[in-house]
Amino acid sequence: MYQHPSVISATAPPSMIGNGEGITTMPVPGRRCPACLERGNTVWVIPGKCCPQCGTPVN
Ligand SMILES: [Zn+2]
Repeated sequence: MYQHPSVISATAPPSMIGNGEGITTMPVPGRRCPACLERGNTVWVIPGKCCPQCGTPVN
C-alpha cells in the first residue's frame, strides 16, 4: 500500500532524512558544520574532517 512520505520520514533513521528537521539529539560523535548550520542545515562532521556538504573543515 502507498504510504505518505511524512509517515516514512517519521520512522526512517536520521541518516536517511536529509534535512535534519526536528532532530536535535542525534547520537553521532562529531561537530555540526557551522557553514551549513547558518543555512539551516544540520550536517554532522567528524572533527578534523571536512563537511561532506560544503567542504568546510571542522575541528
Ligand atoms: Zn557544511
